[in-house]
Amino acid sequence: MKKILEVQDLKISFNTYAGKIKAVRGVSFDLFKGETLVVVGESGCGKTVMAKSILKLLPENITELGSSSKVVFQEKDLTVMNEKKIRKFRGKDISMIFQDPMSYLNPTMTVGEQIAESLIIHQDMNKKQALKKTVDILKLVKIPNANERIKQYPHEFSGGMRQRVVIAIALACNPQILLADEPTTALDVTIQAEILELIQELQDRLDTAVMLITHDLGIAAEVADRIQVMYAGEIVERGTKEEVFNSPKHPYTWALLRSVPTFKTKDQGTLYSLGGTPPDLLDPPSGCAFAARCEYAMNICKKSKPQHDSLTNTHFVSCWLNHPMAPKVDIPKSIRK
Ligand code: SF4
Repeated sequence: MKKILEVQDLKISFNTYAGKIKAVRGVSFDLFKGETLVVVGESGCGKTVMAKSILKLLPENITELGSSSKVVFQEKDLTVMNEKKIRKFRGKDISMIFQDPMSYLNPTMTVGEQIAESLIIHQDMNKKQALKKTVDILKLVKIPNANERIKQYPHEFSGGMRQRVVIAIALACNPQILLADEPTTALDVTIQAEILELIQELQDRLDTAVMLITHDLGIAAEVADRIQVMYAGEIVERGTKEEVFNSPKHPYTWALLRSVPTFKTKDQGTLYSLGGTPPDLLDPPSGCAFAARCEYAMNICKKSKPQHDSLTNTHFVSCWLNHPMAPKVDIPKSIRK
């Protein structure tokens, strides 16, 4: 598969009155054409900050980027581009959709005008051409009566239909990369399935690479090619869907998997829940960030950060349990196949 995006040693901090919050702490990954990379982890683990930083959507006045951080697309480092330059990529080559469509759509413009705007800016169309194409795009995202609907405003659409409009805007210019940040969280379960199916259909048609952010492992199981697990601003495990679900190696991944309800679970009645809270990112621990909540933590975990251990070409984990000298620990029974 062809690599289309390379994120290298991404470090993002926010300067606040309380101090410097280290929200993303040395994240590196590639994105390949046509794949779906699902990023999972609890709220505040840095998933959204990481995605927004790719398109430079973070507030400039308080955001600080690591000196060796790079986001390479088409052999150019997006992190050093000014607003004018990055706008040429935003919405055209790389698009992003967010959790809440209402905060993204402009309530004072018709849906047709909002989709057409992107075509006018990025594809040199005049208004008439753009509105004509907009009708086709609305049909593509399965909005009925597209000719009439383009004249309506966002408040005249249901939640699921609004999210389709957002997808239509994101995909209007056939982007090579789609960053989807919890795109179905605010929707009913049945609509969620329809939206995910729609993203996949469009992805197949356009061969777009999708980075999907979610806290829902059910969604990851449904759509992922690869899964990246984040904790406290770092990637702690990454692998193909099969590797992460069938052979997870990090205690935090185990905890995520144990907390998924299943028909097969033998633990009737109560679901597993992980105790404790994530570390304070104003002053992150020098060792493993998960140590305070990890039932397998050893002395070394609190002192030294575990390195990334490659288990296969596609699977890596960052945990001292994988050190040859570490005691043997089995995957918890409740997630063993
Ligand atoms: Fe747990 Fe240690 Fe592994 Fe961190 S490095 S996840 S504390 S065993």
